[in-house]
Amino acid sequence: MSDWEVVIGMEVHVQPTTKSKMFCGCGIAPLNAPPNTYTCEVCLGMPGVLPVINKAAVEACLKTALALNCEIPRHTKFDRKNYMYPDLPKGYQISQYDLPMSINGFLEVGGHKVRIRRVHLEEDTGKLIHAGDKLHKAWESYVDLNRAGVPLMEIVSEPDLRSADEARDYAMELRTLLRTVGASEADMEKGQLRAEPNISIRRRGAIEFGVKTELKNINSFRALHRAILYEVNRQQQVLESGDAVVQETRGWSEQEERTFPQRSKEFAEDYRYFPEPDLPPLELDRAWIEELRRGLPDLPSVRRARLLNDLPAGQVAVIAADRELADLYESAVAKGAPTVATANWIVNEVAPTGKLPSPENLAELMKLLQGGAITRDSGREVYLESVETGRTPAEIVAEHGYRQVSDESELRVIAEAVIDANPKAAADYRAGKKQAMQALMADLRKRVPHANPKVANELLLKLLA
Ligand SMILES: [Zn+2]
Repeated sequence: MSDWEVVIGMEVHVQPTTKSKMFCGCGIAPLNAPPNTYTCEVCLGMPGVLPVINKAAVEACLKTALALNCEIPRHTKFDRKNYMYPDLPKGYQISQYDLPMSINGFLEVGGHKVRIRRVHLEEDTGKLIHAGDKLHKAWESYVDLNRAGVPLMEIVSEPDLRSADEARDYAMELRTLLRTVGASEADMEKGQLRAEPNISIRRRGAIEFGVKTELKNINSFRALHRAILYEVNRQQQVLESGDAVVQETRGWSEQEERTFPQRSKEFAEDYRYFPEPDLPPLELDRAWIEELRRGLPDLPSVRRARLLNDLPAGQVAVIAADRELADLYESAVAKGAPTVATANWIVNEVAPTGKLPSPENLAELMKLLQGGAITRDSGREVYLESVETGRTPAEIVAEHGYRQVSDESELRVIAEAVIDANPKAAADYRAGKKQAMQALMADLRKRVPHANPKVANELLLKLLA
């Protein structure tokens, strides 16, 4: 790729956390809901009905926009985007065209700023289910309108991303940010965050952009990364063979690991946008916006910078990517837990299991470990039991007799017995086979499960010398 520069812009559709749809009182259907059970006259597009704007969706959009450093214009409005498709019973989608809810922001990713063009609100469409009968050449399609009218935020970046890695990192950072401000759960598996990268390449040093293609509805970070790599490679081959890239929308096939053409790109004029006559333009209350701004929690970039004062970058990357882990870490440390050891525990024990202890219990556990009262193995059992039962680590240690045996005179008797019982291993060790120590330590642990491994090891070494 050395001759070519990759240029990627990203549209990300995010479902904000709301109880109801964008313009009606219907609830948000869970994934397994029977088709068409979360619908009403408004989202079915019956004649004569009127939409009403969902304030919670507006609030989620504004919080996202503020966290992305966007300007919030005084006036905003909704527009009709007209097109005919069976998953869209009204014949138009309510979206925002020339006066979006926010503009001109940025998100910092890996130390550089990705400009955000706009964050606006719109509604989702329904879903078509195609059931074919090849034998009789009969084709049937069904429509499920549970998703029709579900709120969506569209976050549009400028073409500031320069590789598949950057595009993936951008999407991941966006997910962390959305969860941090509480705007969306942003769960890609549930379709709450869908990425649509537009991709072009140009000769290094060229000023004009190449012709771009847009990949639709990518629903995992892995797919996003692979789809971009594939598409960049495909465009390079097209251009190097003297052909031209066609501006079009393409899909990504997970099975075949390739992109494929879907339809040639529409242009804005095809949609005949016009202001939605059934909704009033919005004049956003400045005091409300300032209140939302003040209410924003620490953003991931701020938290990351703060954590870097105490912790190595590898630990910070894991902890700062998840608000719950970061909250847990900072609360436990505030309660006297040691910084690096606690971060280690969160990265190695809490993050993989997803089992969150209370900050109090984690701090207590870390102090027990740090003071040598229990071994790391015992610590793991105490942690799991504490998370399950909510009881304090100190109670569990006392009850199970987990307290570590560090007393030298007590352990010396055991170490002598171990050497007597394993004459071959002892002889091997003395003859220079260092790995024979493992058998001796294993026998010692069998006799005293909570022996302090460091003290026990030193005693065996002393006795074998
Ligand atoms: Zn409805």
